[in-house]
Amino acid sequence: MPPHSSATVSNAAITCESVVRIHRHGSIEVQALQGLDLHVDRGEMIAVVGPSGAGKSTLLNILAGTDEPTAGVVDVAGWDLTAMSAKDRVRYRRNAVGVVQQQTSRNLISYLTARDNVSVPLSLAGVRHSQRGARAEALLDRVGVAHCAARKPSELSGGEQQRVALAIALANSPALLLADEPTGELDTDTSHEIFRTMRSVSEEEGTTIVVVTHDPAVSAQVGRTVAIRDGRTSSEVLRRTETHDDGQTHVIAEEYAVMDRAGRVQVPREFREALELTRRVRLALEADHVAMFPGDRP
Ligand code: ADP
Repeated sequence: MPPHSSATVSNAAITCESVVRIHRHGSIEVQALQGLDLHVDRGEMIAVVGPSGAGKSTLLNILAGTDEPTAGVVDVAGWDLTAMSAKDRVRYRRNAVGVVQQQTSRNLISYLTARDNVSVPLSLAGVRHSQRGARAEALLDRVGVAHCAARKPSELSGGEQQRVALAIALANSPALLLADEPTGELDTDTSHEIFRTMRSVSEEEGTTIVVVTHDPAVSAQVGRTVAIRDGRTSSEVLRRTETHDDGQTHVIAEEYAVMDRAGRVQVPREFREALELTRRVRLALEADHVAMFPGDRP
């Protein structure tokens, strides 16, 4: 159980509010996150997209418990990641969160079989030796690679290696699964299959999943895509499936800008450029919307 459990009562798996992360090297400061807000429900699977340098890895490292925010609120399944003792941080990383990296080789220990690879986190969590083998095999079966149990990573395809990595990440039934470009090295079909497996884990086991990707085709496979720009959440795309009168199902995707608690919204660059919106703009409250005009226009 997390050290404080009030947040576990709510449905929120992740609450990030006004998260700032500043890297300091001598006199140079880099603001990797500049007041990021993010809320994810329990059992939800989201994609995080954004250009290189936007702050995606920094966010993932903070959620993984390997980096700490400079300021702001970060709560994952009742764990307050801004005020954790070193001991709780170890417990959090072992039990509350699982991580799949892009590089298949970084997820697996090369000289161990798939079964033994999955047994490592079980052993760290104190699962008895006599129970580890069966639990590891059940996990490999869950992600569709039971037949690979006795093989070493070099004897597995890229897709099989990432499935084993998934089994390792899920070994201790984490509340949160983080995946950093998990299918970046795989072909499209294999990538779709892995996403299908992750979706079924989130639906059936209530695991919250955050996938970082730069690939729009990958992000189209989840219900919600959050875009990060300049260290902030800038927009969200929500997808839902509708069945039309002809019986055909269609995926409807709608893009929203994200407004933070102070009312700040990022206006997309295309909009700014099209109307030459610069430093000063005029806002007008209409009956059912807010209008924005270039400031120099009468
Ligand atoms: P992304 O994953 O979206 O490419 P990152 O989170 O890696 O973005 O980086 C966000 C910003 O923070 C970038 O400007 C990057 O150069 C900077 N940054 C990330 N990690 C460090 C670090 N350890 N030291 C200094 N700057 C960093």
